[in-house]
Amino acid sequence: MADLSLRSVKKVYDNTVVAVQSFDLEIADKEFIVLVGPSGCGKSTTLRMVAGLEEITAGEIYIAGRKVNTVPPKDRDIAMVFQNYALYPHMTVYDNIAYGLRLRKFPKRVIDQKVREAAEILDISELLKRKPKALSGGQRQRVAIGRAIVREPQVFLMDEPLSNLDAKLRNQMRSEIIKLRQKVNTTFIYVTHDQTEAMTLGDRIVIMKEGFVQQVGTPQEVFHHPANLFVAGFIGTPQMNIFDARLVREDGRCFVELGNARVQLPAEKTARLLAGGVESQPVKLGLRPEHLMLTEEDNAVYASVDVTEMMGSAVHIHLSACGQDVVVVVPLGEEEEETALPMGQPVRFTFRGSAAHLFDVESGCNLEYRQPPAPEPPPEEPAPAEEEAAPEAGEAAEASEEAIPVPAPPPGDPFTE
Ligand code: ADP
Repeated sequence: MADLSLRSVKKVYDNTVVAVQSFDLEIADKEFIVLVGPSGCGKSTTLRMVAGLEEITAGEIYIAGRKVNTVPPKDRDIAMVFQNYALYPHMTVYDNIAYGLRLRKFPKRVIDQKVREAAEILDISELLKRKPKALSGGQRQRVAIGRAIVREPQVFLMDEPLSNLDAKLRNQMRSEIIKLRQKVNTTFIYVTHDQTEAMTLGDRIVIMKEGFVQQVGTPQEVFHHPANLFVAGFIGTPQMNIFDARLVREDGRCFVELGNARVQLPAEKTARLLAGGVESQPVKLGLRPEHLMLTEEDNAVYASVDVTEMMGSAVHIHLSACGQDVVVVVPLGEEEEETALPMGQPVRFTFRGSAAHLFDVESGCNLEYRQPPAPEPPPEEPAPAEEEAAPEAGEAAEASEEAIPVPAPPPGDPFTE
């Protein structure tokens, strides 16, 4: 059990590859934090800096109030589970879990108790006498987690622990981790590239891109209030539809125009937009597939059907509209028949103003959460770009031009003592 603090943490590999920049995060005791983002965005590097497996180039990391920048991994009271968990093939499950405790010279009775408790939590009590080769992938991963649990660490780090498992097993293990979290009262930092995993596991999610944090928030916050276009597109499945549209400001009211549709935005959204000083302007309009509605009205976007996918509880209709592909999700009631719309059929869709997400065309930042415009600075020579400066969330989407080399292969388990 411990809180963590990451302050302006930065990692540069070989003086050239900037892997993580301006990383600031306060993690509460017992919080479950998920770092998520595409491959190469700096998630593992961040986790490995917390673990002490990577030196920190700049910034500070505190665990339970203690600065750990130069504290070696084994003295950080941390356990880590990797994607490529290495079990000792010649040892039984029991011995694999007990191994670290034996090295630390725990009394036999204590080891036995801890191993059996961990096995109980992970539902592998029946497997303690087996060797790893007689286990399924999911069972092996549980043993790897068991080895970490018995250490009773202050902080539990997990680096893509499920990505070697097939889809069904991954779903199952995901719920196991939710249960595990309730039984093991500790702080978790979990790394994944899978937004579904992030949404289902995290108390808060940290979304990263190219070394920069894009947004930190609860799953609801990042889903309903994405800070920028990148987060909007990354979180949610199927992906949010993004259109070139127009925001129209008329006195105290705001409308969004897309195709033949003109939709008024609700008071709350309008107030946030006006507070940020928006004027009538072209915008990127984000609409989630489940928020588009087929309609007979004229005040709508005209489209034609490409493909209909039957998903059981919903139909995903792929349309062509405004010169692009659009996905509409239509939920199906218990009694409703699934009827495929023929390809080429003309349809229309509309949306509620409350479902509209508006982003700046240039920066990609969410116009509702933009700071009011700063007064014009006096003209002067442009300053050279400051590499250390933290970008605004919207700029971050455009930031970091560094080439992304092929990631280094994951290491073995240095916590195997
Ligand atoms: P993620 O976990 O999000 O996939 P990483 O943290 O592994 O990303 O990598 C972030 C960036 O740092 C990538 O550009 C990657 O190629 C680079 N990188 C990672 N490890 C090393 C290393 N040991 N040496 C040089 N570059 C590295």
